[in-house]
Amino acid sequence: MKDKKILEMAEKTLDRYQICDCCLGRSFRQIETGLTNKQKGELIRNNLKYDKKTIAKDCWLCEGLLDEIEHFANLVSDVVKEYEFDTFLMGSKIDEDILDREKELRDFIKSEDAEPIKMEINREVGKILEKKLRKTVDFENPDIMAVIDTAFDVVNLQVSSIFIYGRYKKLKRGLPQTKWFCKICRGKGCKACNYTGKMYDTSVEELASKKALEMTKGTDESFHGSGREDIDALMLGNGRPFVLEIKNPKIRNIDLSVFEKKTNDYAKDKIEINNVRFSDRNEVVRIKSAEFRKTYRIVLEGEKPINKEKLKEVAQILQGKTIKQFTPTRVAHRRVNKVRERKIYNCDIESVEGTIARVIVETESGTYLKELISGDNGKTKPNISEMIGIPCIVKELDVIEIKGE
Ligand SMILES: [Zn+2]
Ligand SMILES: [Zn+2]
Repeated sequence: MKDKKILEMAEKTLDRYQICDCCLGRSFRQIETGLTNKQKGELIRNNLKYDKKTIAKDCWLCEGLLDEIEHFANLVSDVVKEYEFDTFLMGSKIDEDILDREKELRDFIKSEDAEPIKMEINREVGKILEKKLRKTVDFENPDIMAVIDTAFDVVNLQVSSIFIYGRYKKLKRGLPQTKWFCKICRGKGCKACNYTGKMYDTSVEELASKKALEMTKGTDESFHGSGREDIDALMLGNGRPFVLEIKNPKIRNIDLSVFEKKTNDYAKDKIEINNVRFSDRNEVVRIKSAEFRKTYRIVLEGEKPINKEKLKEVAQILQGKTIKQFTPTRVAHRRVNKVRERKIYNCDIESVEGTIARVIVETESGTYLKELISGDNGKTKPNISEMIGIPCIVKELDVIEIKGE
């Protein structure tokens, strides 16, 4: 025995409170290492020649809670049985009454060394489950966190999301990137949205997540794109990076090549995904903040026939130029009003026929392309309409490459 003072205090404690060996050992756990709290309690009691042993059921502090470790382990293993996972972590929500008494005892002992009862329960239940389920406790990043509520004898699960990275191409116009709830009913369903709750039939998000939700039996998803194209723009070339988050998955180890194939069959002619792999939450942050250079194909229409040579000259001048864009009228309601400077890396003319021209533009992330063409009443300078002396608008706008990933 290391410390006489500890034994003296333990004796005072036993004189005053009727507690079980677990609770005794936990309160003076610094007395010995390498033993369970129960063994420590026994050791202290034997040293004090304290014959009267209190069983957990009669314990003033835990009122039998520590006899229920096995029961809690069964409760948890029953709830997690329908989930696939490798790692888990135990948590618990202990009766308020027990916590109040624990505090009283801690104040009486005047020691910070006592282990909270919560920790003992989490650890002991975890130990049983590791053996029983052949899974590993992970404090950092568990697949499942199981929280026992001792007052109500229930287990609540927090299942970690799975994340899938990929790139998508959008092959059909009129498709929003994410689910867009009806503005009138906000998703409930009303006459205006034909009781779908949505503004559009489907979206890249819904098409890309459908098969993943089926395969993982997840309850919900979140779609994180690296920027977004306009609803009426195609997304071509190598596709746009995205991370799909599947919430509460029951199955975690899905074959991603099967997911890719199933999705591409299901979403045929609308979207196509590629380069899929497992990812994590950090990558959501990375692709959300990444600033990729993008190349667009723009079909523009002039008010009058466009002179090809003049347009070529203008394209030459724009090459490498930095333009100034005051917040466009169309997004002014959700963007701060300010001037943004964006670089045009490349500008090439593909074809000009009458009033229609096809232009390839490679720009810095965040450039407003429609305004580069129209000028947006002088809010973007320089702009193509002004430079060729003919007001132009964008008829079609497609992203044909996203660079730098
Ligand atoms: Zn006890
Ligand atoms: Zn509606």
